[in-house]
Amino acid sequence: MKKTAFITGITSQDGAYLAHLLLNKDYTVVGGFRGLSNPVFSRLDELGITNKIRLVEIDLLDSGNLTTIIKEVKPTEVYNLAAQSFVSHSFRNPVLTGNVTGIGVTNLLEAVRMTDKGIRFYQASTSELFGKTQQFPQNEETPFYPCSPYAVAKLYGYWMTINYRESYNIFASTGILFNHESPLRGIEFVTRKITDAVARIHSGKLDSFDIGNLDVKRDWGYAKEYVEGMWKMLQTDKPDAYVIATNEAHSVREWIETCFNIIGTTIIWEGSGVNETGRDEKTGQVRVKVNPDFFRPAEFNLTIGDYSKARRELGWEPETKFAKLIEIMMRADLKRNE
Ligand code: NAP
Repeated sequence: MKKTAFITGITSQDGAYLAHLLLNKDYTVVGGFRGLSNPVFSRLDELGITNKIRLVEIDLLDSGNLTTIIKEVKPTEVYNLAAQSFVSHSFRNPVLTGNVTGIGVTNLLEAVRMTDKGIRFYQASTSELFGKTQQFPQNEETPFYPCSPYAVAKLYGYWMTINYRESYNIFASTGILFNHESPLRGIEFVTRKITDAVARIHSGKLDSFDIGNLDVKRDWGYAKEYVEGMWKMLQTDKPDAYVIATNEAHSVREWIETCFNIIGTTIIWEGSGVNETGRDEKTGQVRVKVNPDFFRPAEFNLTIGDYSKARRELGWEPETKFAKLIEIMMRADLKRNE
């Protein structure tokens, strides 16, 4: 029988790639978007799938609204990707983030519980749960130490997912996904901010850009491959939690250097701390400036994920690593800025 997937956060990077994957697997895809006067479906448009998805307006803060939708859609699988997901924004809006990113999970789990406990449920957890933990690399057994309102809200969602599994026997799984990027990544996130800025510098539209902490290291993978891990988690015999990562960590500094290398420029770093700048080796022009406005109130310096459980139990493995990922993103941003 044809399966139906209900994806919240259909307008997101992951929502678009997951919808694309599931359509190719012959699912009926229903996408939940938030009620804004002008919702943006540009990512679905970019993948050419907007017309293949049924789009429904959702309110994550209204359990009744979600129950009505779940009853009507009758999904086989629910993927909860919607969240206030930007860490800096969560420091400025901690209550909103707690409601949407945390309580929203419970509202959706309640809708599933009240409608059909046979629905399989996926919750989008994050490596931000590990935060300041001092164990590397991080796996499913590593203690959590979230250090932003976003991460704390996600921790609540993580535990509610496990609680609904244990209390009501719902097939509720969660992926602890490390940072994943793509040409569809939001421009507010550091990786895409850099690829977009370097592409605009290359086309003469921008002189320089500001950046926060250059030395934080993250485990960055390719979103298109990570959504495959989400789907695999709902096809197993029993629900569980899985780390999805590349097991490689690179700094923001390396990300910037690699982007400039792609446009044939070498960046030379000068100064230190908040006075550090990056100059074009040939022209001497300052292209990158450290700006403390972009520092997080609470920062952690390294995430690196051990995905061996996902490899062993799901047969999931990342193919696209750091340099290749940047090449894909730079190519897309250079094209957009032609
Ligand atoms: P994203 O591009 O930031 O998108 C977030 C989505 O949530 C958007 O569709 C957004 O809708 C929606 N949303 C925000 N507030 C909402 C509300 N009040 N009601 C309903 N929908 C709302 O996310 P992403 O990077 O693709 O990530 C997908 C999920 O995975 C998120 O839960 C994120 O926290 C999690 N995650 C991401 C990463 C990563 O590196 N990308 C890593 C780990 C976990 P609008 O379009 O209307 O804003």
